[in-house]
Amino acid sequence: MHTQTLCAQCLLLEGIKRPLDAKLESNTHGVVLGYVCPVHREQSTLVCSDAAFFTRIHDFSSDIEDLKTSTSSAPLIVEVDCLINGGIIPIDVVISQFSKFSGSTEFDSVLKLNGGTLVTLDQVLGFNELVLCVEQALSAVSIVVELQFDRLMDLCRLKNSCFFKARVYPSVVYYLKKGGEAQCNEELSLLVESLKRFKALQFSIHLLVDFPYPSLDLLMEFLKRQVGVARALIVSRQRSIRHLLESFSSSASLDLDTTFSADPILVLEEIERCESVQVSRNGFCFLH
Ligand SMILES: [Zn+2]
Repeated sequence: MHTQTLCAQCLLLEGIKRPLDAKLESNTHGVVLGYVCPVHREQSTLVCSDAAFFTRIHDFSSDIEDLKTSTSSAPLIVEVDCLINGGIIPIDVVISQFSKFSGSTEFDSVLKLNGGTLVTLDQVLGFNELVLCVEQALSAVSIVVELQFDRLMDLCRLKNSCFFKARVYPSVVYYLKKGGEAQCNEELSLLVESLKRFKALQFSIHLLVDFPYPSLDLLMEFLKRQVGVARALIVSRQRSIRHLLESFSSSASLDLDTTFSADPILVLEEIERCESVQVSRNGFCFLH
């Protein structure tokens, strides 16, 4: 299958976005993305070690161009990054980005506002104002507000927090490293306490994990105690820049090192290990 990609080495080493033609091919490793950069030569990345899983997910998800004719009944989640170059984007940018996609389908659309890495309290206040304005402008649209733990706690403490609005739901994005499992549980417990000031507020967790994987045992136990409150756990494979740079220096050959791959199957296997169950591959889909 032909597609396009950016050269990761051009992007990370030189800050250049170099679009390249690429191929997705199945081999004994699974599905591999391969491309040739004029500067960094031939490169390949393991995208998914289970080719059947990849094909099913790929067939399920629509291309952006096909949204108008798609017969999928899946709700559309429109994500908007609200922090660009250290500043909160204007509301008309949010509305126009949302309308561009939601207007083209008849499905339920959910707007997800990503706060990114808000640093100052002023930025948190500005982000809260933006969410409040968007909530007023888009009646009947559910809004998910995603922030890192600290900033989400700040948002919860505000007198006019956007979470007082019935259609606004929090999502905490959490980078969980191996060894950080206990701290993660403590912080999520604090978050649950803070969310109690908002009536019947449900939340989701967006977990970013990298190799070597953290244990998910504690988190799974925690989630089982949050029935009806924690609605979704989304696990994303996060490849750190350090790991990617290491992979560049070790990828003189085309050997595919799963340590550096983007393979989601490894995450599913970790969930299977800590739950001691077989997870059906049919119950999962890619969100990114
Ligand atoms: Zn390159």
